[in-house]
Amino acid sequence: MTISSVGIIGAGQMGNGIAHVFALAGYDVVLNDISDESLQKALATIGRNLDRQVQKGAISDAEKAATLARIRTTRDLPEVGQTDLVIEAATERETVKQAIFEDLQPHLKPETILSSNTSSISITRLASRTDRPERFIGVHFMNPVPVMQLVELIRGIATDEPTYKTLLGVVERLGKTAASAEDFPAFIVNRILVPMINEAVYTLYEGVGSVLSIDQSMKLGANHPMGPLELADFIGLDTCLAIMNVLYDGLADTKYRPCPLLTKYVEAGWLGRKTGRGFYDYRGEKPVPTR
Ligand code: NAD
Repeated sequence: MTISSVGIIGAGQMGNGIAHVFALAGYDVVLNDISDESLQKALATIGRNLDRQVQKGAISDAEKAATLARIRTTRDLPEVGQTDLVIEAATERETVKQAIFEDLQPHLKPETILSSNTSSISITRLASRTDRPERFIGVHFMNPVPVMQLVELIRGIATDEPTYKTLLGVVERLGKTAASAEDFPAFIVNRILVPMINEAVYTLYEGVGSVLSIDQSMKLGANHPMGPLELADFIGLDTCLAIMNVLYDGLADTKYRPCPLLTKYVEAGWLGRKTGRGFYDYRGEKPVPTR
């Protein structure tokens, strides 16, 4: 199936990045959110990120203008149903996502492909509640979307081959690289990455190393661009904990138990960069370890 228009539901950090890369690749984009403020903020962020690409010489002023002209924002969900591909990128809560697909269903073209950018919720379960589980797929972009090369494509149990092939073509047109994952908790990247972060927190909890020595060890000893605790603060400690819980519940294996110290930071509201404090304190000029 040829995709020329894309509807994106949810205009937060991920939704605005997804709208950016699709519009830049020449797709007509309808960006939806329940909040006018989110839509306005998304357009401002896309504008700023495109400016950065112009300054770097990656795109021209004319390309920036054409990209912005291809993005239409709306609070009206039915408008999204008229696109060829819908990407749901709303809040990570299953009831929210289910309600979106339910409300959208009467307004969909028969051939529209449905997808979700969820980091952890079962694609098979989301798909099973729609009228087209065979044309439903997980499309997991990485944050920040304009910068990160990978897109995970997650097939639910019913996802058909034409839908998967269509999405492979879309990812290629975006200039990104697809990795296929089966539909199991946290897919590939987060299945490997988040337990590593959790293990780093255990290493801190047990006193094997300090925040600085753990991050330095993994940067200089394993060539990671960021230390695991620094990375946890970037992702958000609440998100890391939520993913560990999905792994623990979904795979029923104690090796995925979240570190009590991670839970403690989340309970304190020390969620990382977004709240100014996590394993580092970001409120001064330079990040300072909190342990
Ligand atoms: P966010 O909180 O920045 O944005 C969510 C947006 O959804 C908000 O603007 C909110 O107003 C909107 N929304 C809520 N209910 C809605 C509804 N019924 N209809 C339309 N819009 C609605 O969240 P985010 O970080 O952009 O995450 C979005 C999705 O992407 C989640 O499923 C998340 O798991 C996934 N994801 C996040 C990351 C990340 O690093 N943040 C990475 C990959 C995937």
